[in-house]
Amino acid sequence: MNKAAEEIQPILLCCDLDRTLIPNGYQLESPQARPRFRHLCAQPAVQLAMVTGRHLDLVLKAIHDWQLPTPSFIIGDVGTSIYTFADGRWRQWDHWITRIAPEWQGMMHGDIVGALSDITDMTLQPVAQQGMFKVSYEMAPDVSRAPIEEEVLRRLWALGVNARLIWSIDELADSRLLDIVPCGASKLHAIEFLQQQHNYPADRTVFAGDSGNDLEVLGSHIPSILVANAHPEVQEEAQRLAFTSDLSDTLYIAKGDFLDMNGNYAAGVLEGVAHFLPETITWMKPEE
Ligand SMILES: [Mg+2]
Repeated sequence: MNKAAEEIQPILLCCDLDRTLIPNGYQLESPQARPRFRHLCAQPAVQLAMVTGRHLDLVLKAIHDWQLPTPSFIIGDVGTSIYTFADGRWRQWDHWITRIAPEWQGMMHGDIVGALSDITDMTLQPVAQQGMFKVSYEMAPDVSRAPIEEEVLRRLWALGVNARLIWSIDELADSRLLDIVPCGASKLHAIEFLQQQHNYPADRTVFAGDSGNDLEVLGSHIPSILVANAHPEVQEEAQRLAFTSDLSDTLYIAKGDFLDMNGNYAAGVLEGVAHFLPETITWMKPEE
């Protein structure tokens, strides 16, 4: 490493996967976006963290299928797991388990499943969707949200389990999903934990995302990028959150027209990183 590189402070670049780094939406990806992104991530100062709802195996599959750079960290299962690479394999980071486990009083996936097993109207999703601290259900189409939420929380509180319920929609299957996770385990909490544990400077930690489950980070104090392919409703909500918290300076919405790219997916990430950390533009050279 030359002297100039040594003097550069590290950058923690945290990126959502689906429709942020992975161009799996209906908008087009600029051809140079991912090659330039790989070039940026190859710099010694840049540490990439992938931040996703996906389970580890599906993250690794995405890295392979979409030729994404190998990250330093994987925050998976909507923030309930953090993986680091050591001794030739990815493993869950004990520090994060130690931080979030007390919220479930030492209980894990199987205990929560057992406590809720006789509630009809909710069916466990396949094993690939489950995590040590993430219990994921598919809900019956006609079930109303409030009564079932009340019943689930009543049972969990009786066990001393401090849980957060995350509802979402699987648009492909047209079904409603429910994730049960520890209260303090989220994308935002996991990024903050990583930043603090590894002493990344606050102004050199950057996040990029596209959708509703990224809003807690997009509207936070962490410098954040919303890629241009994000749904207009997500744009409005991210702007509203940032404005009401007086954090408008920490949100950048990609517009396109940066290095002749359209601002979608990885192009939007690059545009936002250049906005917050202009010195990185020289690391975004197209590959020959
Ligand atoms: Mg996404």
